[in-house]
Amino acid sequence: MHTPFMNMTFCVRTFGCQMNKHDSERIAGMLEGLGGLMVDTVEEADILIYMTCCVREAADTRLYGQVASLKNIPVRSGSPLSKRIVAVGGCIGQRDGDELTKKLPHLDVVFGTHNLASLPHLLQAAIEEGGHQVEVLDASSSFPTELPTSREHSWAAWLPITIGCNNFCTYCIVPYVRGREKSRPIEDIVVEAERYVAAGVKEITLLGQNVNSYGRDLYGSPRFAQILKALDETGVERLRFATSHPKDLSDEVIAQFGSLRSLMPALHLPAQSGSDRILQLMNRRYTSAHYRQLVSKLRDACPDIALSTDIIVGFPGETEKDFMDTARLVDEIGYHQVFTFIYSKREGTPAASMEDNTPHEVIQKRFDRLVDIVQAHAFEKNQLDLGATIPVLVEGSSKRDELLIAGKSPKNQTVHAPVPAGKTPEQLAGSIVNVRINEAKTWYLAGDIVE
Ligand code: SF4
Repeated sequence: MHTPFMNMTFCVRTFGCQMNKHDSERIAGMLEGLGGLMVDTVEEADILIYMTCCVREAADTRLYGQVASLKNIPVRSGSPLSKRIVAVGGCIGQRDGDELTKKLPHLDVVFGTHNLASLPHLLQAAIEEGGHQVEVLDASSSFPTELPTSREHSWAAWLPITIGCNNFCTYCIVPYVRGREKSRPIEDIVVEAERYVAAGVKEITLLGQNVNSYGRDLYGSPRFAQILKALDETGVERLRFATSHPKDLSDEVIAQFGSLRSLMPALHLPAQSGSDRILQLMNRRYTSAHYRQLVSKLRDACPDIALSTDIIVGFPGETEKDFMDTARLVDEIGYHQVFTFIYSKREGTPAASMEDNTPHEVIQKRFDRLVDIVQAHAFEKNQLDLGATIPVLVEGSSKRDELLIAGKSPKNQTVHAPVPAGKTPEQLAGSIVNVRINEAKTWYLAGDIVE
């Protein structure tokens, strides 16, 4: 076996979305297959790879800060390399390409979102020839699924079904850095899922920028409902997906929440705003009435469904009325979880040139008001599970107390419970245990494991 990275250690630092996390698992799989050893810290790493995200401005600043500070961290003793090799990939790599090596001269490798498979060659060239090795492609010729994967957890797998996006929401950089939507053939997805199930994977999360339009490019019309059905038939215990665009969520998929055995009763449905004027400026192509209708159909199909969403506060030109429309929507729907963001301008997107003169303090106050509503509902929703016995997929020990296990309920709530006598959280990780809930807080549930 060709093992160019034998005796070398590597570390992957990941920012951003699940797609990036999955790409990082692919990178780890490739480098491990070529002899590399994955380590957790920068200090131990001969090769350091940043998988970046440019959805928010803070991510750029964080990346520059982290890469710049590497100059002060010497390569580990015993390293076969005289200097640490640093690579940047993901969305910032795709967007900035060569420019990055001008801003960060000690960077060795830059790669984009379409050429993950080239990374080993680029790293090898940087080690053997030095200089800057940059390769960014405009589009990928095929779906990068044949790459090996080193999964973070043996019981859970992310399974990309589409890459790219055709929607061009005016605030979003993704279509420019991930390219147009490309679906993966149904048969390939099913084969990969069957392999995971045979290997003991309990939970599969289907990934795509907009999973609901899956198949449109391949089959002429979306086939997401068929994918869900086919994956349910693989026997996987838990099936989830992200992300869902409201304009493409079909009645067929909604009905599956009430009928497919493995489909978990939790849906992340980004609303972004409750104001029709702002939704139009965002180019979201649905109205708040349509969104409300989807929620009502979802609750008819699956009364216990846990809904989560993304909301942007302070989109250019947002008025107090626009904000109140959003606050009303959030209050009315009563989500289990809301990811709230203050609008962050991304150069190169249409929204970046929209007039934006609302003072930051006003936006911050709106944001704080919204967070109060969100937290009140999250608390209220979790109260409904007090006294219930819930199947929890154990992930390991809780970050706040090593004597507690932490896991996920079907509704994707974090659940804590004391570790039973004679067991460790590591032994239970990947198993599904029943937990009777006796405590419900805003961000988690807690209880005791029962037979
Ligand atoms: S659907 Fe909109 S927000 Fe989501 S990735 Fe595509 S352009 Fe971005």
